[in-house]
Parts: sequence; C-alpha cells; structure tokens
Amino acid sequence: MKLYSTNNPASAVSFKDAVFNSMPQDKGLYMPVQINCLPNSFFEQLPKLTLPQIAFEVAHHLLGDAIPENDLRNLINDAVNFDAPVVKLQEDVYVLELFHGPSLAFKDFGARFMSRVMSYFLEEGEKQLDVLVATSGDTGGAVALGFLGVPNTRVTILYPKGKVSDIQELQLTTNGQNIRALQIDGTFDDCQALVKQAFVDDELNEAFRLTSANSINIARLIPQTFYYFNAYAQLLREGKSNVAFCVPSGNFGNIGAGLLAWKMGLPVAKFIAATNANDTVPAYFKTGMYEPKPSVQTIANAMDVGNPSNWARIADMFKEDAEALKQLVESHSYTDEQTHQAIKDVYNSYDYVVCPHTAIAWRALTDWQQNHPGITGVFLSTAHPCKFPDVFSEPIASKVDVPEQVRALASREKHAVSLNKDFASFKNYLLSNG
Ligand SMILES: *Cc1c(COP(=O)(O)O)cnc(C)c1O
Repeated sequence: MKLYSTNNPASAVSFKDAVFNSMPQDKGLYMPVQINCLPNSFFEQLPKLTLPQIAFEVAHHLLGDAIPENDLRNLINDAVNFDAPVVKLQEDVYVLELFHGPSLAFKDFGARFMSRVMSYFLEEGEKQLDVLVATSGDTGGAVALGFLGVPNTRVTILYPKGKVSDIQELQLTTNGQNIRALQIDGTFDDCQALVKQAFVDDELNEAFRLTSANSINIARLIPQTFYYFNAYAQLLREGKSNVAFCVPSGNFGNIGAGLLAWKMGLPVAKFIAATNANDTVPAYFKTGMYEPKPSVQTIANAMDVGNPSNWARIADMFKEDAEALKQLVESHSYTDEQTHQAIKDVYNSYDYVVCPHTAIAWRALTDWQQNHPGITGVFLSTAHPCKFPDVFSEPIASKVDVPEQVRALASREKHAVSLNKDFASFKNYLLSNG
C-alpha cells in the first residue's frame, strides 16, 4: 500500500510512514493511492461473515502487503473485540450502535486499531513511542484505553480542568500503567496548543519519539470502514439492501470512512451528514462555498468543529466529480433545541435513549426519509448516553443505564497532574518525568 498527500498527488509513502507521521509535511492528509472495489466474491460472502472477518478482508484489501496476512488477522482480532450491532427501531429505521467498546464511543475502533498498528511497526530495540493527545473528552478515553498495556508505548493525555464529564475524567485518569493524565488549567484549545508546540520543540524531539493520535491519522480512518460493511451485512440478513446511512459529524472522519467504504464498492443510496449548529458543511452544500468558521458550543460537544479536518479527504475523493458528491451526500444542521426534542422523540417513540450526537442523526435521517420512502435508514450511534449525563432530564435521565465497566471506574483512584497552561511547565514536566 502507498499513500499520497492530498496536497501533493505525486507523493507516495508507505503505510508505516503515514501512520507514524500522521500528517504530511505539506499539511495535506494521507490517502491511499489505490482504492479498488472489493471482489464480488466478498459481497457474496458478506451476509455470512462476522465483524472481525469483515474487518480482516477489508483491511487486507486496502493494506495489501503492508502487514502480512497472519499478523494482520491477529492484530484485528485483538483490536476489534466488541460488537457493532444494528438494532431495529421501526420498519426501515435502524440504529448502528458503535458504543460497545471500552470507552463507550465509536472512537474505540480507530484508537484500538491505530495503537496496535503502531506497536506492530515498532521494531525490536526501537525507542519508546510517546503519544501526546489533547482531548475535549471522548478522544482521550479511546486513545488511553486503546494504548493501555501496549508494549513500548506511553500516552500523555492533556485535558482541560473541569471541562470534561465525570465519566470521561475517570476514563482518562484511572488507567495507570503506560497512561498518564495532565489536567491543564485552561481550555481544550490551550491543551491542543501545548501538544502542537511540543511537536516543534527541538529539545523534546531530541529526548522523545513523539507522535500524535488525533483523528487525521489514516490508521484511525481505515478501521471505521469495517462497521459500515458489517452493518450492511446485518441488513442483508434482514432482506434489506437499499440503504442510507446518517452520520453525526464533527471532524467528518466517521462519514469519511463511510465514503471510503462506498469507494470500495459498498452499495449505499445516500449518506447524510448530520451536524449541530457548526454548519460549515451544510452551508457548503447550500452555497457551494466552503468557509470554515470558529466553532460554537452546543450540547453535542464532540461535534463542535468549525473547520472539519477530514473534509479535505472527502473533497479529494470527489475531486474529479463534484457532481457525484452532491448526488451521494447531503448535510443538515440542527439546533440544541431540536436536539433536546429529538432525544425526547426517540425516547417516546421507541423507549430508547440516545446521546445528543446520535439524536441529531436520528432527526436528520427521519426528516430525509419523509421524501424517500422505501429506503432503509441506518443512523450511527456514536456514544453511549451515559457519557453525557448533564444533557438529560427526568424521566429520561433515570432510564440511562450505566454499564458495569463504568460503575467499576468510580472505585478506582484518580491520578492527574495539575499544570497551568504555559508551555514551559509542560515541557519541564515531560523532561523531568522521562
Ligand atoms: C468524535 C465524535 C463525533 C464526531 O465524529 P467525526 O468523525 O469527528 O465526525 C460524533 N459523536 C461523538 C460521540 C464523538 O465522540
């Protein structure tokens, strides 16, 4: 497998280099040089395959000989060890539950796969990999749990003090082993600025082998294609083959993976990108102008992104045929008030509780289905509702079940080092805790 930068189609790097660099020097994003359709035999077999089997076939097809077959199979069986069931709510409305991994959010797919790929490529005797990650909540948990116990790696998480939910904080701070948490007296942007500055600091780069775990890494995108194929396999078993996916979108990695699956031959009638008030992409579909803006805060805060970093990948996939993009994809934005209402509507209609991000996707899907009868709709549930307890009021709040793994966190000891937001303190911490 070779990858190019979206800013330089003539470039070509190996999968290993793309994973460790995360982002090309030219600030583009890595994309596979070849995205071929999977063979017919794969689609014929599809209804019979399990999620790990599908994941292996798709990854092997895309990665080619970048990782030998047996190693890849072991890696995938280790990374993809939880379910992604499609649950029927009513005729032609299904929810794809992506929150059955360790951090209870779909980011587990990307983080677990990436951590294992990085560890696989670290050769004997190589310097320990130091992963720095800034988080506003969900990413940190997935990355921490993804790398927990992975040999020859260490993760340093920076999170804004007092600005993540209790459960998120427990997921960040109770791991021990090769994971350490820093609570920064500042905002998420301050945390991100510290990480960025560390990457360009000579002394730190001399002392450590630094890498990032953010969502632009190609090794986080690839595993997210797996659950689209697996959802389709489940629908085929129910006799459904005309399918639309609705994806709650922030940085547009999740829907980008769906489009990558489509490029590999997954037959999808429509992708709907549902956003909160951060409507850069919906506005683009309306006006034809792509204009990033500062993010605004909403109750679906994992989607508070004004300049979606993965949009460059989507634009690149359709660079030769912008019309095809408009045919295949729609995008709609919803307010916090509509999100609260959607949470209530889903609860009243199906006795089912969704997180605010998922609620927006349900609303966008069912709005779309009004004018598109006969197409089976799947909306992606990106996180377990228990991660966002402040959003719900009674009676829904008491209906949110808290999984055992989360209840168990409460009795664990929290470890976070407090730092203020200046770079000198952060750098000093890293150097004196090498
Ligand atoms: C990260 C996240 C999203 C947004 O996904 P993107 O891939 O950035 O579009 C949506 N919902 C939840 C719960 C998330 O954590």
